[in-house]
Amino acid sequence: MAFDPETDLDRIATEPGVYLMKDRDGVIFYVGKAANLRARLRQYFGATSDRRFFVGLLDRLLADVEVVITLTEKEALILENELIKKHQPRFNVELKDDKSFLHLRIDDRAEWPRIDVVRRPKKDGARYFGPYHSASKIRETLKVVERHFQLRNCDDLTFKNRARPCLQYQIGRCPGPCVLPVDRDEYQRGVQAVALFLQGKRGELVERLRDQMERAAEDLEFERAARYRDQMQAVSGSLEHQQIIQGAAIDQDVFGLYRQGSHVDVAALFVRKGRLQGSRTFSFADQEVPDTEVLGSFLNLYYHAGNDVPDEVVLPLVLESAEALTERLAELAGRRVVLRAPSRGPARRLVEMAEKNAEQAFFQARRAEAMQNGALVKLKHRLRLANLPFRIECYDISIFQGAAPVASRVVFEGGVPKRADYRHYKIRDVEGTDDFAMMREVLMRRLKRGVGQQDGHEGDDLPDLLVVDGGKGQLGVATTVAADLGITGVDIVGLAKSRVQDGQDAAGGAIRSSERVFLPGRKDPIPLLPHTDELHLMTYLRDEAHRFAITFHRHVRQTSTLRTMLDDIPGIGPSRRRALLRRFGSAERVAAATEAEIAAVPGIGPVRAAEITAFLGSADPTGYDGASTSTTTQAPPGEDGAEGASPR
Ligand code: SF4
Repeated sequence: MAFDPETDLDRIATEPGVYLMKDRDGVIFYVGKAANLRARLRQYFGATSDRRFFVGLLDRLLADVEVVITLTEKEALILENELIKKHQPRFNVELKDDKSFLHLRIDDRAEWPRIDVVRRPKKDGARYFGPYHSASKIRETLKVVERHFQLRNCDDLTFKNRARPCLQYQIGRCPGPCVLPVDRDEYQRGVQAVALFLQGKRGELVERLRDQMERAAEDLEFERAARYRDQMQAVSGSLEHQQIIQGAAIDQDVFGLYRQGSHVDVAALFVRKGRLQGSRTFSFADQEVPDTEVLGSFLNLYYHAGNDVPDEVVLPLVLESAEALTERLAELAGRRVVLRAPSRGPARRLVEMAEKNAEQAFFQARRAEAMQNGALVKLKHRLRLANLPFRIECYDISIFQGAAPVASRVVFEGGVPKRADYRHYKIRDVEGTDDFAMMREVLMRRLKRGVGQQDGHEGDDLPDLLVVDGGKGQLGVATTVAADLGITGVDIVGLAKSRVQDGQDAAGGAIRSSERVFLPGRKDPIPLLPHTDELHLMTYLRDEAHRFAITFHRHVRQTSTLRTMLDDIPGIGPSRRRALLRRFGSAERVAAATEAEIAAVPGIGPVRAAEITAFLGSADPTGYDGASTSTTTQAPPGEDGAEGASPR
């Protein structure tokens, strides 16, 4: 029998607990907690209730309510968390892909402490720092620590079994306590300095290092003094990148919420010792319950997932379950935690900033959706395609300054680049620079794999739309290849560049035609009109294809130039050159390495290292302007591939 509020509400207990709402099939569609179960449920059905979010919904869905009584509201909170994870009800907040952030761990009870990267802090007596919200943030931090504070980074087993120090010692990043006599007090001072650095107490650390530097200088220990100076500079440098947004030197998580209909976005700002260290947004559809409940439930799940509990959690609204949640957070953190919803002052301004972030996340996602769906549909109509072009593949042949020609493929799915599917193809069978023959070779190789799939064999999916960069000629090649292979159902078009037309515009500039798309069997191209979604999509596609081709050419060109530079270094033969490239990956990285790092490469040693650094230091190691170097620090691509592409 369906749940009848008229008769059944009075039978619900007034104790704290958890309630589970079920539909006619017994499926749980919402789990909530309450300090007083009856009062809470009455809110859903009473005249002055907050049932605006559930209007119509409960009537349609609710068949039964099950309650579980708990001793305290805090217990209800814990149970709610378990039940949501277990049943994943449709209308509850779900932290599906919550990868908890990374933390750094130092166990300073160890004889020679080291620094570890871990996902979740444990209650094991070690010190944990973080959370770090991105891998790049943690890399940046570790770079400073490794370069300037020289803690070991080997595991305990390696540490015990070393017969001599490893490369870290040779490049000056570890004093080698595994085998060498190292001053433990000095090492421990380094550990304490790292701890201060990771806690964000960088001002205090700078003062301490200054003090140590001056004392070392007074004792005429200039090498040590220079090390403290370098550490001080590194710490001061890393401070400049972080924005101070709060006077109070405490850790805070600040939350903001934005709702539109049943869609809720939550933004979190992570403030550590007054500095904004990062932010993150979470998006939830189908949130039919009031904001206090959404946020309370979200926080419960979020902190139970192992995320760092700060000193203060700052909220945009007062939670019904604030007391129980505060108690639970203090339990998780092992110290006092404050939960507050400020109505004015600096903390309120932070909440407003978080709210703006949440709002922006909402609109950004909607814009992306609208852009993708709208543009694909418009493109289908404009080009009279048979398919909605969900997967688009664009092929381009490029030849740069006499270099070997390369074909590239970029792929868009749902209107956005799918970079994992990008490919470069080396031309195998065509001599010279016959564009059409090259396009034919590449499309034949690609589409044959699709034919395998069409016949029910393993192979690649065919695209919905195949775009060749070029006009009628390239389009003719593509349609012939498809016909030769018996492929049907794939739309094929040629995308030609806009053309300069006669005359000048009002500002005296050249007048260009619209971008033009050639369709099979149609004499005149279809122009894509300015400021339309379909034009933006197609130009984005072609720009991406050109960017991908140019990146590859730069890479090839630069790698060969750099290799040539290594060839020119006196006394560096093929085997030493190989050793350098094996260690650093590219000549550019050799040029960026320190003398000590180069000396540590087997077969090089300090004398040759000095010669190499002198040689590379006196030359421009790239042979290009600065703008091109950032794309060339990768390992060399495979035969056909680059940017993660795999050989075909
Ligand atoms: S030098 Fe020794 S202690 Fe230092 S990282 Fe290498 S193995 Fe570990």
